[in-house]
Amino acid sequence: MRLSQFHLHTSKETPAEAEIISHKLMLKAGMIRKLAAGLYTWSPLGLRVLRKVERAVREEMDASGAVELLMPTIQPQGLWEETGRWEKFGGQLLKIKDRKEAGYCYGPTAEEVITDFARQELSSYKQLPVNFYNIQTKFRDEIRPRFGVMRAREFLMKDAYSFHVDDESLAAEYQNMYDTYGRIFTRLGLKFRAVAADTGAIGGSASHEFQVLADSGEDAIFFSTGSDYAANVELAEAVAPGPRAAAAEALRKVDTPTQKTCEDVAALMGIDLQRTVKSVAVMGVDADGNARFVLALVRGDHVVNEIKLSKLAGLAEYRLATEAEIDAHLGSEPGFLGPVLVGGAKSATGNPKQAIGIVADRSVAAMADFVVGANEAGYHLAGVNWGRDLAEPDVVADIRNVVEGDPSPDGRGTLAIARGIEVGHVFALGRKYSEAMKLTVLDANGKAVMPAMGCYGIGVSRIVAAAIEQNFDANGIVWPEAMAPWQAVVCVINPKNDAAVTAAADALYRELNAAGVETALDDRGLRPGAMFADIELIGIPHRIVVSERGLAAGTFEYRHRRASEAENIDHAGVFARFG
Ligand code: ATP
Ligand code: MG
Ligand code: MG
Ligand code: MG
Repeated sequence: MRLSQFHLHTSKETPAEAEIISHKLMLKAGMIRKLAAGLYTWSPLGLRVLRKVERAVREEMDASGAVELLMPTIQPQGLWEETGRWEKFGGQLLKIKDRKEAGYCYGPTAEEVITDFARQELSSYKQLPVNFYNIQTKFRDEIRPRFGVMRAREFLMKDAYSFHVDDESLAAEYQNMYDTYGRIFTRLGLKFRAVAADTGAIGGSASHEFQVLADSGEDAIFFSTGSDYAANVELAEAVAPGPRAAAAEALRKVDTPTQKTCEDVAALMGIDLQRTVKSVAVMGVDADGNARFVLALVRGDHVVNEIKLSKLAGLAEYRLATEAEIDAHLGSEPGFLGPVLVGGAKSATGNPKQAIGIVADRSVAAMADFVVGANEAGYHLAGVNWGRDLAEPDVVADIRNVVEGDPSPDGRGTLAIARGIEVGHVFALGRKYSEAMKLTVLDANGKAVMPAMGCYGIGVSRIVAAAIEQNFDANGIVWPEAMAPWQAVVCVINPKNDAAVTAAADALYRELNAAGVETALDDRGLRPGAMFADIELIGIPHRIVVSERGLAAGTFEYRHRRASEAENIDHAGVFARFG
């Protein structure tokens, strides 16, 4: 690829809307452009990386024995009613009507569709076991799409579904997928850990997540220092970022007699309450112990929604208190802001609004600074509308008081806590879907049996962002070889003015490609400084510069993206880098 004919569009500015490094760098490198909340266009550059991930996933899935198919993104309501998930799935399900008023959803996952396919296709045990997979766009109407493609609404997923005559066969395929996932993430150059997805289950768990380790991760991973025990606590959907223990600790504090009820505070504030949430609490702390200003709405033991105050800054009619103001009002007790009020209030114009307030024991007056938010559907108070935005039952079933240093549940070693990004998930489903959708096959004795199923997902587009969280420096992205848009780039100094340099660069570019090294030619005619800055930002592993001086000396200037210095090497030396 000649970059003069490619659409590379980098930016020097650090985008203000991006909170984490991968989102910043993907925007700066011009890999993605936002269309709307959680919807992104992949630029030609971004798409090259996405396709690399897709290719690695596809090749390893094929090698595992799984077979590829392609299912539609739009799924009929009737199928989801068969499994009861039309109602149960909750607000993430985007429901659509066609011109005949027939109900559909945009698929967030495909258990129903594949089970429907299976009941048409599979009739005999001889066809089993089989594992069907597809790499297809999904849509989930996430409450808080954020971090670019990390938590998007539309995203690319590899989802696989296996069918088995018995549980032993399912267990074998589960292990096969577990091993395949290990190979995929290793090949992509990621530092990851497989963890039991349910903290309660030790060993023999029917569900594992593959977590890319990164401080920006929305999940907390507990692992033993003395054994292979590792488990995940999903923080993203429920409690504030930060160790779960901090949230648990804060919850305990809220249950002290100093807590004001919503009614108490409303009376003090002269607020007209329209509805209340039973109990409201908590915020998280970040890894440094700093308050992150997150409110969590709690009902009984369930955290039903979490609101990051900074997210509310866009609401014109309210002002957010500064961190300094909050500190001044609330003191420095880490991880805890004091009781929180959530209730209905009237805005200055008399419109009903829902108000959220943080109330310090010492200073109820602080409330005024914190009255934020409007009662907009699907916005920050989405979770308060039970049943509409979230199914009423547990978002977080239990908040366990695990802290770093506690004994590991398997009795070997103590627990450490790290943050992770969920990039893959394997799940032994059993017969839930075959039963609900009446899928049977005939066994060897001619008897109808219900196949056991497994499902296995990978966040293909999320992996692109997750990889950057682990691979960057001050100058930009540092791609692992397997994900780089090109392995190498040949940079031409003064291409317009120097025919010999242009010809030599062109020849090297062709030779490298012919030798199977995916190489770009930077013939855009930029000044060296600007050209190198771009190439570093977009993270190409190998950079080879062709200049007049080098030609005269019979050398090229070579630099690996991870090397601190460039070196002058000859033609054979260049090819030796790609052994
Ligand atoms: P999360 O806990 O991050 O919400 P999930 O557990 O809901 O993910 P799964 O249903 O297990 O997701 O889907 C399989 C994979 O799809 C996940 O492991 C993740 O890598 C990816 N994924 C899920 N939701 C999103 C999203 N909103 N944006 C990008 N990738 C996603
Ligand atoms: Mg999850
Ligand atoms: Mg989710
Ligand atoms: Mg999952």
